Amino acid sequence: MGPKNSLTVSADRAAITRAAQVWTIARSIREYFHTSDNMVRTISGSRLVSQADLVLIVPLKLEITVVLPYTYSEPRSRLGRSGRSINVQLMKSLPMSKGGYLPPEGKQPAVPVVILGAGPAGLSAAYELSNHDVESVVLEQDAVVGGLARSVEYKGYLFDIGGHRFFTRVPLIEKMWREVLGDDLLTRPRLSRIYYRSRFFRYPLDATDALAGLGPLEALRCMASFARARFSPRWPERSFEDWVSNRFGSRLFEMFFRTYTEKVWGMPCDQIRPEWAAQRIRGLSLSSLLRHSLAGRGNGRKAIRTLVEEFHYPRRGPGMMWTRVRELAETRGARVLLSKPVERVFWRKGAVLAVQAGGESIRGESFISSLPIRNLIRSLEPAAPAYLRRATEDFHYRDFLTVALIVRGKNLFPDNWIYIHDPKFKVGRIQNFNNWSPDMTPDPETTCLGLEYFCFENDGLWNLSDAELLALAASELTELGLVKKDDVVDGAVVRVPKAYPIYDEHYQRGLAAMRRFMEEDAPNLQLVGRNGMHRYNNQDHSMLTGILAARNAMGARYDLWSVNVDADYLEERSPAEPDAWHWQLAQTQPITPRAISTSGSS
Ligand SMILES: Cc1cc2nc3c(=O)[nH]c(=O)nc-3n(C[C@H](O)[C@H](O)[C@H](O)COP(=O)(O)OP(=O)(O)OC[C@H]3O[C@@H](n4cnc5c(N)ncnc54)[C@H](O)[C@@H]3O)c2cc1C
Repeated sequence: MGPKNSLTVSADRAAITRAAQVWTIARSIREYFHTSDNMVRTISGSRLVSQADLVLIVPLKLEITVVLPYTYSEPRSRLGRSGRSINVQLMKSLPMSKGGYLPPEGKQPAVPVVILGAGPAGLSAAYELSNHDVESVVLEQDAVVGGLARSVEYKGYLFDIGGHRFFTRVPLIEKMWREVLGDDLLTRPRLSRIYYRSRFFRYPLDATDALAGLGPLEALRCMASFARARFSPRWPERSFEDWVSNRFGSRLFEMFFRTYTEKVWGMPCDQIRPEWAAQRIRGLSLSSLLRHSLAGRGNGRKAIRTLVEEFHYPRRGPGMMWTRVRELAETRGARVLLSKPVERVFWRKGAVLAVQAGGESIRGESFISSLPIRNLIRSLEPAAPAYLRRATEDFHYRDFLTVALIVRGKNLFPDNWIYIHDPKFKVGRIQNFNNWSPDMTPDPETTCLGLEYFCFENDGLWNLSDAELLALAASELTELGLVKKDDVVDGAVVRVPKAYPIYDEHYQRGLAAMRRFMEEDAPNLQLVGRNGMHRYNNQDHSMLTGILAARNAMGARYDLWSVNVDADYLEERSPAEPDAWHWQLAQTQPITPRAISTSGSS
C-alpha cells in the first residue's frame, strides 16, 4: 500500500496551524515507536525510528514515509486502520523552529564529546579527552567552573561551598591533583571540634575528652545511661537512634549525634535506617572509644576509620584546581563555555543528537552529563517516555546555604571547622578558611568564616533575605562566643540548591528508569558525578566517573555504575578484571543516611 497522505508545511502564518498537525503526527509516531519500531519504512537510506528524526530531516527537506497503525488525518475519529501509511514532506522553514522544539539547524559538524556541567566530573572528563587530543565542549550554567567544589570570591576573600578536603586513596586521582596543582597542593593539619552547651569536644570523639569536658556529674549520668543501654538494649534496632543509643547510651546520643544529624538531613533520627550508623561509625562504641583513649593515642588508631588527621588542599581553595583544569584542557583544544545553561537535550530513539544551551545549539556524537538527573529528564526533547517522566518524582535533594562573614582579627580559633551540635543554634558547621590556607584571605589581620546552614529550597531559612541571613549568622557567631559582634565587618550569602542527593525509598527506582532509557534509547549518553548519578560522593568519585566516561567515549567499556563507594580503581589493571574495583574509594566517600521506608519496602 502506497503513501496515503502528504503534508507540506511552509513558513507563513497559516503554517503554524499545520505545524500543530505535524506535532500530532510526531506524537503519534513517538508513542507508536515506544511500543514497536518494526513498522518503519526507510527514509533516504536510513531508518526513521522516532519523532526526533523529524527534527533531523527538517533542514534537509527530506521526505519521510512511516507506516502507522492509523492515518494522521483529523478529526481523530477518522484515525483509522492499522497498516496505513503517511508521507510527510516538511519544509526547512518550519515555524516551530523558533518556538523551540527543533534542534540545531546549523550545518556545524557534530562535536565528538559534549559535556554538560563544569564541575569536577565534567572537567575531569574534558581534561582526560584533551590528554588524548579528543575535542570536547563543556557547557556550564554558572559564570565560574567547579560546581559544588568551586571557590567563591568576595572582595578578595575566598571561601568554599562547605570546606573541601582533598582526600583520596585512588592513585589516578592523586596523580591528577599533583599534575595540575604541583606545589600549590598543600598538606594541611586537621583540627575539628564539636560545640555543645558552651563547651568544645574533640572530633572525632575521644571518650576521656568528652567525659572530662562534661564534668563529673554529667559524666556519671552518661555512664549510667550507657550501662542501661548495655543491660537493656533497644531491640530490634529499627533506627539510627536505636543503633547509636545501644552503643553510646541515650544521653551521649542526644549530645553528640541527634542534633547535628537532624540539622544536616532534615529528618528525625528515629526515621533513619540503622545501617547508616553501622557504616558511618563502624567500629565505634563508647567502650571502644574508652579503650582507644586509655591505650593512648597511636594505639589502635588504625581500627577506627573516621580518624583522619591530615588532608590536601589547594593554596587558593578547590576552585584553583578547577580553574587550572579548565585552562589546561582549553590549551589542548577543549572549549569550556560559561553562562550556558543546558535547556534542551534533543534525542531520538537510538541516540542523543544535540543540546541547546543558552540559546545556542550544539550537535554531538557522545554526551556526558553531570546535571541533576531530574533536570536532565525534564530537558529531554521530545519529552521523555512516560515511565521516565514519572521518575522525576523519585529524586529528592537537601539544599544548603553558606554565609561567609569577614571578621576583624586573626587566630580566632584553631579549628578548620567546628560542628555546632547545640540545638539552640541553627548553624550546622562553621569553617575557618584562614586555617584551610592562609592565602584564602587578602588581609592577614582579618578572618573569613563560613557558616553553613542545611535547609530545603524555599523553606524558612532559604527564603530569608541576604540581610536577614547575615544578621542571623553574626548574632549566632557572637552568641557562640567565637567573635565580638562589632568585629563582623562584612559578609556574603551563597545559596546552593541540590547540595545533597537524598537516598530515600524511591531514588533506586528513578535510577533504574534512567538506566533503562539510556540502554534502550540513548546509548551515547553517560551520566557522571554527584547529582549526575544521584550519588552522595566526594570529588574523587566524581572525577573518576568523569575520567572513565571520557575513556568510554574513546572506545573503552567501563561500567560507571560499578564505580561505587565500595569500589576502587587501580590504574594499571584492566577493567575486565573482576577484582580491579575494591575498597579504595570507600575510604573517602561520605555515607548517606536512608530513611526508614514508609511503605514497608527496604
Ligand atoms: C557542603 C559540601 C561539602 C563537601 N565537602 C567535600 C570534601 O570535603 N571533599 C570532597 O572531595 N568533596 C566534598 N564535597 C563533594 C563535592 O563537592 C562533589 O563530589 C563534587 O563537586 C561533585 O562534582 P560534580 O561535577 O559531579 O557535580 P557538581 O560539582 O554539582 O557540578 C555540576 C555542574 O553542573 C552545572 N549544571 C547544573 N545544571 C546545569 C545546566 N542545566 N546547564 C549547565 N550546567 C549545569 C552546575 O552549575 C555545576 O557546575 C562536598 C560537597 C558539599 C555540598
